[in-house]
Amino acid sequence: MSKRKKNQATRGTYKKIFDFFNAPVMQVDCGAKCAPLNGGEPVCCSADNAIPVVQMSEWKVLRSRTDMWKNFIPVDAASRKIVEELDTTCKAIECNGARNCERDNRSLACRTFPFFPYIDKDGDIIGLSYYWDFEDRCWVISNMALVEQDFVDEFIKAYEILFENDPGEYEVFCDHSASMRRVFSRWKRPFAVIGRDGEYFKVMPKGAGMKKIKDKDLPKFDPFTTKKAFDKAVREAEEEASK
Ligand code: SF4
Ligand code: SF4
Repeated sequence: MSKRKKNQATRGTYKKIFDFFNAPVMQVDCGAKCAPLNGGEPVCCSADNAIPVVQMSEWKVLRSRTDMWKNFIPVDAASRKIVEELDTTCKAIECNGARNCERDNRSLACRTFPFFPYIDKDGDIIGLSYYWDFEDRCWVISNMALVEQDFVDEFIKAYEILFENDPGEYEVFCDHSASMRRVFSRWKRPFAVIGRDGEYFKVMPKGAGMKKIKDKDLPKFDPFTTKKAFDKAVREAEEEASK
């Protein structure tokens, strides 16, 4: 008898998503933009910054297609805690690194980073917002106007398929969206969302609604605000590395 819980994404769900979801986030090699601040490795491709977590069904699909993924072995107390607290339906994994990346065999998290599906209080999928912990390290978050509509379309389609097959995943992102609203309300800051049709919004703090904005009003974060700030951060990272 299968141990898979009812209403959970199956291998078929992930295969279906991986069959079409290949659009690049943008026509820029963004890894080349953030790697100089991260010892030469793209920030999201290093388990030191983000431990990839997949559902067991996703893991089975990836494992059947490639040997570029392996079990993640915790390296310290913090990563051990993350692994120990994972639900039994999930698994922490690690790839062979950016130089050996096989685009067609990336996990769903790789294909979507730094974005997650933003769901409003009414439960509607409004579009894409971003993992705010990475504002200061991910160049894409400061250049959201360059995100391609093909990527947005495939992203939304992928999550609609996932949510249809796995209501638990929908709940996860409802909760994550609510967390983002709470965090930014505490910071008294709006946050940006790319709408399903490529329009841009800012979600106001303290439940004050959502406003349409122009691309010039999308946020930029240090050190990606100016070339001078970026060059300074790269110099500092190089000095730190040479100590
Ligand atoms: S998505 Fe962000 S963190 Fe990942 S490679 Fe691109 S700029 Fe770097
Ligand atoms: S599979 Fe590719 S995109 Fe995903 S973390 Fe590894 S190197 Fe980065």
